[in-house]
Amino acid sequence: MFSFIKKGLEKTLGSIKDILPERVEKIDKTLLEEILIESDIPYELVEEILYYLPPSSSVARADVRRVLKAYFTYKMPELSSEQTPFVELVIGVNGAGKTTTIAKLAHNYKKASQSVLLGAADTFRAAAIEQLKSWAERVDVGIVYTAQGHDPSAVAYDTISSAIAKKIDRVIIDTAGRLHNQVNLANELKKIVRICDKALLGAPHRKILILDGTQGTSAINQAKAFHEMIGIDAIIITKLDGTAKGGSLFGIAKALELPILYVGVGEGKDDLIPFDSDEYVDTILDAIFTPNHG
Ligand code: GDP
Ligand code: MG
Repeated sequence: MFSFIKKGLEKTLGSIKDILPERVEKIDKTLLEEILIESDIPYELVEEILYYLPPSSSVARADVRRVLKAYFTYKMPELSSEQTPFVELVIGVNGAGKTTTIAKLAHNYKKASQSVLLGAADTFRAAAIEQLKSWAERVDVGIVYTAQGHDPSAVAYDTISSAIAKKIDRVIIDTAGRLHNQVNLANELKKIVRICDKALLGAPHRKILILDGTQGTSAINQAKAFHEMIGIDAIIITKLDGTAKGGSLFGIAKALELPILYVGVGEGKDDLIPFDSDEYVDTILDAIFTPNHG
């Protein structure tokens, strides 16, 4: 079966191959350390992973698998399907991939026969509104927007109100990744969250942080800053296709103690895949170990 995560990890798997041209039955720990560091797993985590492995100088697939899998234990709380519309607020720095990911999510929901309404609450740049409008047209979903510079909270409010009136299943709200300064951004995001709750008690139901996978572990500090601002429920990692730093997901999952919902593996509307940590770990292990050994 073609593995979609493989597309996203192509560069990471390539860098493993540079270090380890031939797959092995058991791997020397020094070599494993080199592979893990090269794929951008934070150094402290690499040390931790090695610590939890058996004391022998080389280790088998099953040992490594057990330790690596322990880093992805955070699951999304079960969501009640009664919540209609289900409101998602998408945040993250400029260029992380928010708008593109929103389009991909909308496309996924539509494929699952759900109706979707987008809210263009990144009113900071005119181009951001235009970009979401053009995506809305391409994936054929509705959108609520205003002129540049208008209050993003008002857009969020109008989007949710309109979705309630039209009995729409899903609302996804875009936000600005950058304002004049960090305090402004924090205040604006907090206000959007408050206003969403005014429009519909309990909304936003999910605050999703978008992180650029090519930034590797440096995305962790960014993520912590957003988490402190408004509290994040889940993350989506984009641009996994453009990086050899695929191992950074371990660091991000561990540092934030949050579930990774999806990973982005390209610029098209179908390039968003649900993140399956088992598949992710196994794909990396397949590049290291010969088949049929646990
Ligand atoms: P925003 O500023 O956070 O809204 O980011 P955008 O959605 O505008 O995305 C910034 C750039 O990253 C665009 O050129 C996107 O096409 C690109 N991009 C987003 N997600 C992915 C991805 O998963 N893979 C690749 N290769 N490019 C992506
Ligand atoms: Mg955007």
